[in-house]
Amino acid sequence: MDLIALPAFEDNYLWLLHDGQQALVVDPGDAAPVHAALRRLGLRLACILVTHHHGDHTGGVTALREASGATVYGPARERIPEPFTPLAGGDRLRVLGLDFEVLDVPGHTAGHIAFFARDVDGAPLLFCGDTLFSGGCGRIFEGTPAQLLASLDALAALPPTTRVCAAHEYTLGNLRFARTVEPDNTALADHERQCLQRRADGRPTLPSTIGLERAINPFLRSREAAVTRAVRAHSPSANDAVAVFAALRQWKNEFR
Ligand code: ZN
Ligand code: FE
Repeated sequence: MDLIALPAFEDNYLWLLHDGQQALVVDPGDAAPVHAALRRLGLRLACILVTHHHGDHTGGVTALREASGATVYGPARERIPEPFTPLAGGDRLRVLGLDFEVLDVPGHTAGHIAFFARDVDGAPLLFCGDTLFSGGCGRIFEGTPAQLLASLDALAALPPTTRVCAAHEYTLGNLRFARTVEPDNTALADHERQCLQRRADGRPTLPSTIGLERAINPFLRSREAAVTRAVRAHSPSANDAVAVFAALRQWKNEFR
């Protein structure tokens, strides 16, 4: 299988996975780059996966479905363009000969889902929308800090080799914040150097992996002593795990 990050808008990635004949696309906020890629590679679009209802993830769904007849799968608890097959945590689907498991990951939006495949050419693969980014996580628009923390805990528990296909190229900004939180994390400093190089070469910093994110992403590390200490220095009243996570998210919101 081939995995391609199609850039869209300012900093979105529309993930395209294909076997040389059939393709699936994740969160197509814009149909144009997907149409262009399908034409260039001679692919038929079999399936569209949607993680949550935001326009930058759904804007191209109708045009792509009408042009291709692709089946659309999306979150049961959110409004996305009809018709689609509604999915919730624990559901499974088989597309392009691959088995995907649906995970409920509320927090960024109330009904956000993620798609996890245990074996794509021998390694796991995760499409996580705006829940987990490299070095960061989504803003809490509809859910609660407790929900987003639980969602990120579930993603962190996936196999370390899982490739993380997030929907935005926010990595460098996230890593600048992460370094402020954990100035002594050498894995983080190494990763930032690599990502700066990749962006300078015009390449995506994604996919990341769960193993890497557990080493460098402060939002997967809020219970680590160094992270908790830094958050409490910034927000002294953060006294339990959820409060520390909420204060970390708030600190990032205000970080320039
Ligand atoms: Zn979003
Ligand atoms: Fe988004």
